Amino acid sequence: MPDPAAGAARISPMSSPVIMWFRQDLRLADHAALCAAASAGPLICLYILDDETPGDWRMGAASRWWLRKSLEKLSAQVPVVLRKGAADRVIAQVLGESQAKSVYFTRDYAPWAAALEGRVKEVCEMAGAACHRHGGYLLHEPESIRNGQGQPYKVYTPFSRACSAIGPPKPPRPVPAFTLWQGELASAALDLPENPDWANGFYWQPGEDGARSRLADFIEDDLAHYADGRDVPSRRVTSRLSPHLHFGEISPAQCWHAAQSAAEKAGGLVDQAVEKFLKEVLWREFSYHLLHHFPYLPETPFKPEFADYPWADDPAGLKAWQRGQTGYPIVDAGLRELWATGTMHNRVRMIAASFLIKDLLIPWQQGARWFWDTLVDADIASNSASWQWVAGCGADAAPYFRIFNPVLQGEKFDGDGAYVVKWIPELSKLPREFIHRPWEAPEHLLAVVNYPKRIIDHAVARDRALAGLKKIKAA
Ligand code: FAD
Repeated sequence: MPDPAAGAARISPMSSPVIMWFRQDLRLADHAALCAAASAGPLICLYILDDETPGDWRMGAASRWWLRKSLEKLSAQVPVVLRKGAADRVIAQVLGESQAKSVYFTRDYAPWAAALEGRVKEVCEMAGAACHRHGGYLLHEPESIRNGQGQPYKVYTPFSRACSAIGPPKPPRPVPAFTLWQGELASAALDLPENPDWANGFYWQPGEDGARSRLADFIEDDLAHYADGRDVPSRRVTSRLSPHLHFGEISPAQCWHAAQSAAEKAGGLVDQAVEKFLKEVLWREFSYHLLHHFPYLPETPFKPEFADYPWADDPAGLKAWQRGQTGYPIVDAGLRELWATGTMHNRVRMIAASFLIKDLLIPWQQGARWFWDTLVDADIASNSASWQWVAGCGADAAPYFRIFNPVLQGEKFDGDGAYVVKWIPELSKLPREFIHRPWEAPEHLLAVVNYPKRIIDHAVARDRALAGLKKIKAA
């Protein structure tokens, strides 16, 4: 962190303050709103835990664990006033308590965010304060990308081409010099969980430093293997930046530039890997593009006919899936990884989600809710778009009839069973040929393995799912 006084000498800490309202932008570097606020006056750094505005989509348990740690890290860099409640109400209070002359914040794209930001603008106007909204959470504002007919994109590939045609994002900005306001404002206890009992395996380092070192380690150790290894869950070569990006501890532009400069340094050796990595970052952009233009995405199928799909009411199946007890090793390993670490490898997310939706016929929204509560990267755009993608009801989704076979997927992407055995160690007692199909193992071997019988036969489930699809097509 630079010396806050340097370069900001003309701003007296006693002059009228400005509020820097931190949201999903818990960093100091490459922060457009902070740069603007820093040059406007002495800062009041404010974070509001708003459980009211998002309604049912208030932060889940794993996200709260992350948030607590991330706020601790941010508070070690700058003093942060912590408050709880509807953000517009809290901002009105803090404006009243501090007589601040302006509020700066980074734009959010959740379905409830635009209305909230409108209310914040109103409370600022009522208090005679200016309100400044900045970008930075995405590479491109969702309105800025339109197809030839001036409409939002619904298909990823032309969307990604349109993004690439815009050219590189601006180079990341350094941490600005700033002055802190010397007045006093009380903080509230946020009651975020310190170490919930299930989180023993959370290996993460939330916060800006953790994000920066994760990016550096990824580029140094894993990027070269990303193109061929990213679908193999036991290899752990993906960036694991998603929670850092979600909480804004690092910006997508910082990731973009770091990957590009690695490509330049390597003289073409990692070009393919960088291209693939940046394509994934653009899937995040695409998810936000969809969410912005179709804000019903978290609840309602993008393809309306799927609202009539004959889903099953199966609380026992849902519970078995959540606990990693379906009897399908790759699915169960994924759910157990999720519970233990707050994450799940992308390939396994797809297999596990497909199993819930198409083998158990449980509505995708119920799976999305479980992920919302248990993922440290739970993200309203990426989670909703991805669940709809797997369900076949999303924009540019995998066709519904393409049903993942959990045995073949396991054998293809975890051929040696290393991933499955890591999360279900008892399966190591089985010969490798049975690791992804334990029910085919001889009885005497199964007897010594403490692992559930499969709750459904995939072949039967597949036919049932396709019959459901026929029904909605015929309707
Ligand atoms: P990398 O492979 O290193 O990719 C780099 C970055 O690109 C990621 O950090 C992420 O920000 C972005 N990204 C990668 N894949 C996707 C994708 N398919 N969609 C959108 N962005 C992507 N991602 C979330 O961030 N939050 C979620 O809540 C979430 N829920 C998902 C639910 C399901 C059912 C599925 C199939 C996928 C979901 N994803 C979600 C997308 C993806 O699984 C994760 O972003 C990825 O596993 C994160 O690991 P990584 O950071 O190592 O990714």
